[in-house]
Amino acid sequence: MGAGPKPFAIIDGHAHVGAWRDPSFGGRATSLSDATTLYRALGFQGALLMATDLACNVELFEALAAHDGAPRFRMAWFAEPRQEDDFRALERRASSLAVLKVHPSFLRCPVGDKSLAPYLDLAVEAGLPLVVHCGRWREVAGFEHALEVAHRYPTLAVVLSHMGGDEPLLVRAALDAIEDRRLGNVYLGTESVRQYWLVQEACERLGSSRLIFGSDYNLNHPAAFKAIIEALGLRDEQRAEVFGANLNGLLPAHQRFF
Ligand SMILES: [Zn+2]
Repeated sequence: MGAGPKPFAIIDGHAHVGAWRDPSFGGRATSLSDATTLYRALGFQGALLMATDLACNVELFEALAAHDGAPRFRMAWFAEPRQEDDFRALERRASSLAVLKVHPSFLRCPVGDKSLAPYLDLAVEAGLPLVVHCGRWREVAGFEHALEVAHRYPTLAVVLSHMGGDEPLLVRAALDAIEDRRLGNVYLGTESVRQYWLVQEACERLGSSRLIFGSDYNLNHPAAFKAIIEALGLRDEQRAEVFGANLNGLLPAHQRFF
């Protein structure tokens, strides 16, 4: 065996397929075939796909059922308790899902809200990690709510999207709180965090085993956020963890990428 970096899988841990309703996303819309073409061209081994704010979960689920070959896709169910049939549709498909996604800002309620309790219970039961959008709307989407859920459900792996809030003060506050509360079941998704020094700081404080690479495709280009991780100068084992192994290890065994 020659020297040089060992090969490892690159999995985008946070990607969307479909069209956005929120006008601030400029009418952005992509298909599963767009995602397939892009990730193939990038040489990524896989991606965790989720719907958009339209929560067209069943449509994405069916498109994925027909997908074969590289890259490997796994699905996160985009919880939408306001849609009448959403929970039943999720229940029926739980064994074919990898992750539960909750976006409190779109739902206009915190992740700990009682409308989401059946979803969280199901995630625990099915062994699905929970990915929670965290943002600047603190009352609803503040990382504190996600940490409270992590505290309440110690067997649930909770991934804070945007590293707790996509803003240096919020990310630092999230790091402080995770350390203070000694929450061993909390992970940080790197999607859309542009400050490489902040990702570095998180890595130093919590360890590389807590970071999960994501891009927030179809809004962001995966290569841009891959470059942030590359810029950290991690050791081979750490890069392998952040780029795929950490997320992979959280998934139900039959849903793992590798
Ligand atoms: Zn997203």
